[in-house]
Amino acid sequence: IKVSDLIDESYKRINQVDDKIKAFLTLNEENARTQAASLDDKLTSGEELGALFGMPIGIKDNIVTKNLRTTCGSRILEKFDPVYDATAIQNLHNAGTITIGKLNMDEFGMGSSNENSAFQKTLNPWNLEYVPGGSSGGSAAAVAAGEVLFSLGSDTGGSIRQPAAFCGVVGLKPTYGRVSRFGLVAFASSLEQIGPITRTVEDNAFLLETLAGLDPMDSTSANVPVPKYTESLTGDIKGLKIGVPKEYIGEGVSPESRDSVLEALKVLEKLGATWEEVSLPHSKYALSAYYLLSSSEASANLARFDGVRYGYRTDNAKNLIEMYKNTRAEGFGDEVKRRIMLGTFALSSGYYDAYYKKAQQVRTLIKKDFEDVFEKFDVIIGPTAPTPAFKLGEKTTDPLTMYANDILTIPVNLAGVPGISVPCGFAGGLPLGLQIIGRHFDESTVYRVAHAFE
Ligand code: GLN
Repeated sequence: IKVSDLIDESYKRINQVDDKIKAFLTLNEENARTQAASLDDKLTSGEELGALFGMPIGIKDNIVTKNLRTTCGSRILEKFDPVYDATAIQNLHNAGTITIGKLNMDEFGMGSSNENSAFQKTLNPWNLEYVPGGSSGGSAAAVAAGEVLFSLGSDTGGSIRQPAAFCGVVGLKPTYGRVSRFGLVAFASSLEQIGPITRTVEDNAFLLETLAGLDPMDSTSANVPVPKYTESLTGDIKGLKIGVPKEYIGEGVSPESRDSVLEALKVLEKLGATWEEVSLPHSKYALSAYYLLSSSEASANLARFDGVRYGYRTDNAKNLIEMYKNTRAEGFGDEVKRRIMLGTFALSSGYYDAYYKKAQQVRTLIKKDFEDVFEKFDVIIGPTAPTPAFKLGEKTTDPLTMYANDILTIPVNLAGVPGISVPCGFAGGLPLGLQIIGRHFDESTVYRVAHAFE
């Protein structure tokens, strides 16, 4: 098989299905074909080939790609062509992947359904009346629909895991600091990570091996050795101790989601693991803390979109201040504006102690909840989302119901620990996801359990 044929298959499939799924915002076809041809030459040259040689990959549109349009799903970056590659992209290129195109997302990662993209609504490949999840909905849908083998997403509060669950694919949010954020357009810098979305756990582990590691360009990337994740896929989970938080299978979680987890636990027990109910007592504060902290960070991070440095600038301004105001009024969508206002308020003097500081204190307690459980248990397991995918338009009128969908993924970002979503049955013809959460930098155990279950 030649790389050109693989790439050809990918574009063929996109031509067949993407007018319905609408996962891609930009295609990189000409470049991809040129790259494929040069990789085909290497195939016969006897040169050493990278671990992901010739693999077609899709990239979420908030990860910058040199000379390839990167919009973050926003009008304000509608015509933005970056001048460099994110470190994650460089690492992939070094391993031999070929970028097929850029994938749709909620504007700047703010959303759980892809309905906040300024350009199009991606649909769930399992049923086109349903959302694919978000914010990495394009990344999950493209893999589920067979348009690409792998994709990259980013996860600030669940944006890899929840769409992976809704689309029936595998998605990992690495430990905070595991993968460089250099070139990931910042939404909430202290919470987010780039991570792989794939069909199988093994593919996922291969991708993380390529992505992970210290990067001098990101001071929050960690100097922790990167294990061979693929070597942890032994199938052996005898003696493994699983904690199941009662908060993750209680009120607010649909019976289908709960039952699928209980079924999964039976499978894991058969494989020699044991489980017990545990508690993450501060979970009930996680959503409030997350929306305060992430919006505060967003209000600072998004200050750079001022009509001067990047992207869109209004035509309609008589002076500098008006230019700033109109650029941002015209360039940002409603959800982004809502978060900027919320964040600016939470950080303002007089409110800082009551909101931002309080939320930071809650974050510390949530982190400690996880540490306490991990003293006795190897992994924590629960559903990825409280329900399967919901219908288009079902949650767009009330932002709070949309926010509530992230209740089971957000604590993981607040604690900085790794979490994966793997397919775990169906409800009403729609996939469900099982979430496996591990200790800091222990993606190996997370993968081992996910692979044994798969
Ligand atoms: N849905 C969550 C939000 O809107 C999480 C988004 C994300 O992880 N990028 O903030």
